[in-house]
Amino acid sequence: MINVRTRKTVSLENYRHVIDSKIYEEIGKLADELKGIRICHVNATAYGGGVAEILRQEIPLLKSLGLDFTWAVINEGEEFFNVTKKIHNALQGGDQEFTEDEWRYYEYCNQNLASEFDPSLYDLVVVHDPQPAKMIAYLKKGKTKFVWRCHIDTTSPNEKVLNYFKKFIDLYDAYIFSAEQYVFKSLKKKIFIIPPAIDPLSKKNVKLDRAQAESKLRSFKINTKRPIVSQVSRFDPWKDPLGVVEAYKIAKKRIPNLRLVYAGNVADDDPEALRIYKQFEKAVENDKDIIVMYNQEGLEINALQTISDVVIQKSLREGFGLTVSEALWKGTPVIAGNVGGIPLQIEDGVNGYLVSSTQECAEKLIFLLENKEIAKGMGRLGREKVRQNFLLPRLIRDELAVIKEVLGSLIHAKIN
Ligand code: UDP
Repeated sequence: MINVRTRKTVSLENYRHVIDSKIYEEIGKLADELKGIRICHVNATAYGGGVAEILRQEIPLLKSLGLDFTWAVINEGEEFFNVTKKIHNALQGGDQEFTEDEWRYYEYCNQNLASEFDPSLYDLVVVHDPQPAKMIAYLKKGKTKFVWRCHIDTTSPNEKVLNYFKKFIDLYDAYIFSAEQYVFKSLKKKIFIIPPAIDPLSKKNVKLDRAQAESKLRSFKINTKRPIVSQVSRFDPWKDPLGVVEAYKIAKKRIPNLRLVYAGNVADDDPEALRIYKQFEKAVENDKDIIVMYNQEGLEINALQTISDVVIQKSLREGFGLTVSEALWKGTPVIAGNVGGIPLQIEDGVNGYLVSSTQECAEKLIFLLENKEIAKGMGRLGREKVRQNFLLPRLIRDELAVIKEVLGSLIHAKIN
């Protein structure tokens, strides 16, 4: 396991102009109460995907409040991540078969993780997602509290895999899910619902004007005078990259100068991604109006979300979908799959569209491209929805409140 060093310097004060003062004050109060408490986040990757994105932004802010936070990333190899990607897919409802050897390897690696991890260094440990989840079965927890934070869309999980998880998930002291419908039935400990959030001050979300965005995209040869639709997503079947291409092709028959920009990356813990990337490359190779931005982040993604006329997030399953809030925050209307955590962010027909098929996606795309004023209005409402609900300080407030509740009397013992 490797401790991630986050060097960014930030201050909650910088967020005052975007968040409501109530949240600002609540964070201050909670931070005072939690001084001296040692917390560790454990997840599977420092790069790629929403969890790494959130931790990279929130850990420096939490530290700036004088809190003692550590971020540890597991460093198991590709074979482990092959199994855990299958587990991830199965918990999202995919039809996966596992061999005995695969389960044994998952357990062996989690045993290794447990042997490298000393719970006595922390008062509370937040374990993210399935990859390191079973570590708890091989640890001596002592007085340390453990919270399992599930980010994935477990609306209709594969029952066999769910039953396997239920056998050890009871060892946790509390659970955090992103939405009510994800909660596993029959959990006996405290359950908290906390949707994720985006950092309005990160390079990815800071305000860019059109000229700045255009200049960031120049090297990708994106002609910003023509209509642009984009999707930003890992190369993952649940993000339906080929469905995005299909929707674009249908819309292009009506709007011939339309261009599609697909920004896609490969997370460190996702061995499936390269195969999907190759499949995608093949599907788009004959269309010069499709541009692929590979492994970009920060300002480049920001520029793309800013400049796009419409953003698509055509997910088939989606734990939350930070990319939806990221685009809405830039005032860009979003058409997205009506799944998982996306309806938390999009009210259908108000600040975007929720769709259930490629055809529907294409129709809404044509509509928004042909009705620019309506599109703009939706983008404006989207930005306000994100401001009120999905910005980092709200997430930090909610998480600190959970830590306080789970630790309960320990906090008083430390202070007294
Ligand atoms: N992302 C990125 N570059 C890419 C593709 C994705 O920086 O080429 C970022 C994206 O902007 C978002 C995160 O990766 O911040 C993905 O989070 P999301 O919750 O949308 O999906 P996940 O990958 O966690 O399923």
